[in-house]
Amino acid sequence: MAAKAAAESGLNALLLEKRQEIGEAIRCAEGISFRSELYELVRVQPDWISSEVHGVRMHSPNNDSVSIDVNSKGECGGYILERKCFDRGLALQAARAGARILVKTRATGLVRKDGMWRIAASCGGHPLQIEAPLVIGADGIESKTARWAGIDTRLKLEDIMVCAQFLVADEGIDQDCCEFFFGNRIAPGGYAWIFPKGRGLANVGIGIQGSQSGPGKALSLLERFMQDKMPRGRMLQMVTGGIPTSGPMSSTTSDGIMLVGDAAHQSDPLTGGGIINAMRAGILAGETAGKAVHSGDVSRASLKGYEDRCKIAIDKQLKRRYHAKNLFLKLADEDLNNLIGSLHGKDLTSMNTRSLMSVLFKQNPRMLWRLGVSNLIERL
Ligand SMILES: Cc1cc2nc3c(=O)[nH]c(=O)nc-3n(C[C@H](O)[C@H](O)[C@H](O)COP(=O)(O)OP(=O)(O)OC[C@H]3O[C@@H](n4cnc5c(N)ncnc54)[C@H](O)[C@@H]3O)c2cc1C
Repeated sequence: MAAKAAAESGLNALLLEKRQEIGEAIRCAEGISFRSELYELVRVQPDWISSEVHGVRMHSPNNDSVSIDVNSKGECGGYILERKCFDRGLALQAARAGARILVKTRATGLVRKDGMWRIAASCGGHPLQIEAPLVIGADGIESKTARWAGIDTRLKLEDIMVCAQFLVADEGIDQDCCEFFFGNRIAPGGYAWIFPKGRGLANVGIGIQGSQSGPGKALSLLERFMQDKMPRGRMLQMVTGGIPTSGPMSSTTSDGIMLVGDAAHQSDPLTGGGIINAMRAGILAGETAGKAVHSGDVSRASLKGYEDRCKIAIDKQLKRRYHAKNLFLKLADEDLNNLIGSLHGKDLTSMNTRSLMSVLFKQNPRMLWRLGVSNLIERL
């Protein structure tokens, strides 16, 4: 999205991807909660969508469950993407806008000299030197761009969601809704998910709080989850990865540098979803790059527009969700049982996270008081 927006604003944009194919080896459950958000950002192609989901089912630690029909009053259901096609499709749109793309090209270092960045890269094993006035670091949670540019992106363990996921074939998967499973035995400080992909397939994963993780822990919890809940499921693919859940960084720019997406910790601290925010930030960074390069001033001060626009479009919500995450982490299994149980008999149509939390806490004011969060709803 950043390369596309930069090229559309008339820049000579170059996109480097270390893997040999854009869209391969994706570490993602591919869920988008509100499809309308996607349509606001990009021309959506049919092959990007694996399946449409019309509801959410939440399971409590005591095996109670509640379904929310998100689509019964409108078009606000979600998509499970086929990110292989989606990421490649976005790259194609960037290329059509004029961006050049180099795959199997790993950035290996950045040095600033005479107002330009000198980027060292390895292209199919051959060294490559690139000069550019401005670099957008969209290189994910392990971003080296940030480090090279002197921006501190270190995360505390409690602000990382450690994930393991299988692509599973099982004819018993409910293909109409996303399922979430809570409880400290299942996923301490996180949750397990089943996101249906059509044709009897689903992304089945677990995310746990980094401070409650350990070597191979997410994977072994996922194996146990599979045995318990999907004993007939067959695993076709496995991915592991981390998601930043820290809320917004204090600064995502430096002279001639902007960070976007996971590199800038823009994923949702509560759910771990980061696709939509990464896309939004990519557009804002590409547009800001256009203005800055055309004006001949790529200093940090001139890139402040990017941070200011992110504050409104992304950071405000991230801060609220960070509060919600910290509250969620205080919940014992008993609390989760009570919260989910209290939703029975409620009108759960057309729910977003905020209205859901609002119902939950109106039903459980004592728990809210005990957790010491009196103005939570306003903060969400
Ligand atoms: C298991 C799991 C499940 C998830 N599920 C969801 C979900 O259902 N919904 C959702 O919205 N979000 C989900 N997320 C989060 C989501 O995947 C990320 O927020 C999103 O992909 C961030 O996009 P990005 O472009 O910032 O980073 P990435 O998608 O990580 O892309 C970074 C790219 O940079 C490339 N790169 C890195 N270093 C270099 C280098 N030195 N040189 C060249 N290229 C480089 C990488 O190869 C990669 O292609 C999930 C994450 C995980 C780990």
